[in-house]
Parts: sequence; C-alpha cells; structure tokens
Amino acid sequence: MFSANRREFLQTAAACLAVAPQAFSQALTITTLPLGDNLYLLAGAGGNVIARTGADGIVLVDGGLAQNAAALAQSVAALPGGSAKVHTLFNTHWHPEQTGSNERLGAAGATIIAHENTRLWLQQDIRWPWNGQKFTKLPKIAQPNKTFYDKGVLDSGIRYGYISDAAHTDGDLYVYFPQQNVLAVGDAAYGTGWPVVDWWTGGWIGGIVGGLQRIESVALSNGNRETKIVPAHGPVLSVADIVAQVDMYGTIYDRLNQMLNKGRGPSEAVEAKPAKEYEGKMGNADEFIRHSFESLWAYLSPDA
Ligand SMILES: [Zn+2]
Repeated sequence: MFSANRREFLQTAAACLAVAPQAFSQALTITTLPLGDNLYLLAGAGGNVIARTGADGIVLVDGGLAQNAAALAQSVAALPGGSAKVHTLFNTHWHPEQTGSNERLGAAGATIIAHENTRLWLQQDIRWPWNGQKFTKLPKIAQPNKTFYDKGVLDSGIRYGYISDAAHTDGDLYVYFPQQNVLAVGDAAYGTGWPVVDWWTGGWIGGIVGGLQRIESVALSNGNRETKIVPAHGPVLSVADIVAQVDMYGTIYDRLNQMLNKGRGPSEAVEAKPAKEYEGKMGNADEFIRHSFESLWAYLSPDA
C-alpha cells in the first residue's frame, strides 16, 4: 500500500481540504501524459488512471484513492473532450488505489466493470494479517455493477480480460486499447519497486510470474512488440521490460521454491537474500521476500 510518509501526506492533504479546498489542490498534483489518440495517463491520485475520451463519453481504468476522487474528476474534466460523461470505469482489482472513484461514478450512473472476485472482495471488510491494515466494504452504489469471469469487449473495441494467474489478487484484469496499442495491467506488473504480495486475497509469487507471462502474450497478440504497458504504479513499461521481469521473478520464485522444499521458513528465506543481485536497482527486498514465501505456504501447503 502506501508508506508512512505517503499516509501523512494524505492526512495533511485531507486536513487542508477541511479548511480550504484550494490548499488541497495545491498539495495534490495530478499529472497528465498523452498515451495516444484520445488516451491519457493521469498520475498522482494514488494509482495510475487511464482516461479514454471520445464522442460516446469517457472510459476510465481505475479511479485513484477516494480522498483524491474530486481532484481526479477535475483533471479528467480538463482533458480535451473531458467534459463528457464517464460511462465506464474498470477496476483492475479491489485495492483502494483503484476503487476510490467508484462511489462518485457509481452514483452518477457509470457502468463499473470488474472481475467477479473483485466484486466479492469489495462486498466484505478485509483485514491484512501481516500489518493489521483494515479495509471497509464499499456501499452498494460503489460496487462493480458489471462483472465477468473470462473476457469481454466494449462497443468501442476496447478489450478486457481476466489475469487468472493471481498475480496480485485473485481478481486482476487487463484492459487493452487496440487503436493506441496500450495495455493497462493494474498491479499485475509494477513499474517501480517490489510489488505488494497480497496473498490474503489470492496473490502469490507464482502468480506474479504467470501474470507477467500472460501480459507478455496479450501485448504480443497484435503482432508487434511496440505495445505500451501501463502499470498501476510507476512509469509506462515496454514488452522488453515485461520480459526482464518474467526472468527476475522466475529466478526468485525458483529459489524460494527450493527453500520451501528444504523445509525453510519465511525468516530464513529473507536471510538468504534470494533477490540480492536485483536489490541495487529495485531496493531492499526483505518485505517482498517474506510475503512471497508466505504466499507459497498459502498456495502450496498440503493443508491450504
Ligand atoms: Zn494493488
């Protein structure tokens, strides 16, 4: 999720909002990056958001954190063609960085598309066992109102599908914009730092590897290697970046599997530094390794 600093920043930003709305908009900066015709990446609302404008209205992929929903709506409205109504919102998974605009847009009549598992998580309170963080279920109006299991396509040709490997949660989806050759993948790929391994709602290290392989094959299914891959966190990735990530996470997965087979535990896995050669570029991997190992227990233990 977010760091203590990020949390303090958001709390400060929220406090500013109570006093003076203009102070809030100064504290929160949402940047806009064109991705292709009528397609934009909005960064800074808590997680990357993609907006596609068009004659039929606006499609959003993810909605940032709830406390940033008003600022995000302003940024979307400021896009060329952005004054139109948002008719469709995708939730790439249930996390708050993706679902913070659900209530606002659900109340305005938008179709909110998610995998059925994402809807199920959003209908219940969740508490992560590793840090005690709590997430409150969303009100009915904010829950996804169009769910699917496998794949689908919008009238505009935008395709979406289930990343069934459980890379990050058990409800990850991708959205592909064929006209711009842009593939949104939520947190199934990270653009910066080590991923959160949310094994409580189904994510696991084996799924990270499988999900990245699936992303690669979806990105290549159009016959070229130029697809832009947009993660929920960090900068836009290339197919080559995804291939490198498959290699790295595959190596780490193999090492953890070997330790599991030798009867080792999470603390021993952390001490063995199985991601050592990547830490210079990626940062300290201890937390990632601990949760990855726990995710193996969750998936591979005989009594799981
Ligand atoms: Zn996430």
